[in-house]
Amino acid sequence: MTRKHTESRQTLSDYHVHTSLCHHAEGLTSEYLDQARLKNIPELCFTDHAPNPHGYDPANRMALDDFAAYQAMIRPLQKSESPRVLFGVEADYYPGGLDFLRQWLAAHSFDFVLGSVHYVGDWGIDSPAEMHRWRTADVPDAWRKYFLLLADLADTHLFDAVGHLDLPKKFGFVPPEQDIAGMAGPALDRIAEAGMSIEVNTAGLRKPIGEIYPSPLLLRMARERGITICFGSDAHKPGEVGFEFPAALRLAREAGYTHAARYSRRRRTLVPLPEAAANNP
Ligand SMILES: [Zn+2]
Ligand SMILES: [Zn+2]
Repeated sequence: MTRKHTESRQTLSDYHVHTSLCHHAEGLTSEYLDQARLKNIPELCFTDHAPNPHGYDPANRMALDDFAAYQAMIRPLQKSESPRVLFGVEADYYPGGLDFLRQWLAAHSFDFVLGSVHYVGDWGIDSPAEMHRWRTADVPDAWRKYFLLLADLADTHLFDAVGHLDLPKKFGFVPPEQDIAGMAGPALDRIAEAGMSIEVNTAGLRKPIGEIYPSPLLLRMARERGITICFGSDAHKPGEVGFEFPAALRLAREAGYTHAARYSRRRRTLVPLPEAAANNP
């Protein structure tokens, strides 16, 4: 392929990748960047799991003392023009975490803050180590509580986008679709009111459910509410950068989307979606 051809090829940006600081991702940040270059990804936003002082889920995130190392890892990469590198974070919404998060997010100049819920009560709903709890759980009740937390997350106005909107489906414990729509609707209303985006996250394709987050129905519901989208691979290793983005693009187009959100210094602009199948595999 000629260089000219490469440059003219428009592709999606990846707004959700991790680093080894979270203890469950691997590879060097330079290797993530190399993958983004290979796949013609225009913007790569690092969104590693945010630290906290509460002892909340320490096994899956950097310690507060590691945050300087995170900055030292990412900031020099921002000299790169192709891809452009953004400084972001995936911050959990959890009861009791808000006061800290409010001041901590304001104290650092992030480009993008992804807001996620990974816990319902004391249960890490997407943790492989706690997957067994789904077998005995009241599945619809767990989903209902999850979407209530997402609605509360939106009301904080602390985040730019919601991560993996229907994460509870990860292991395949899924209520009827119409029931999910009924539970998700009020959360989507609040996400729309907050002016947030949601991400189209391809990690679900690597999990037992084998589906992108969110489902086609939920993505259409988001579109109907005027909620903007960004795209994320949730890469935990370099080879996962831009994972299955052609499928994500198809899903977005089928839901009626024509634009993607991009962020810089937490300000959103919209860019047209590339033509279908424009992303490299
Ligand atoms: Zn997550
Ligand atoms: Zn993630």
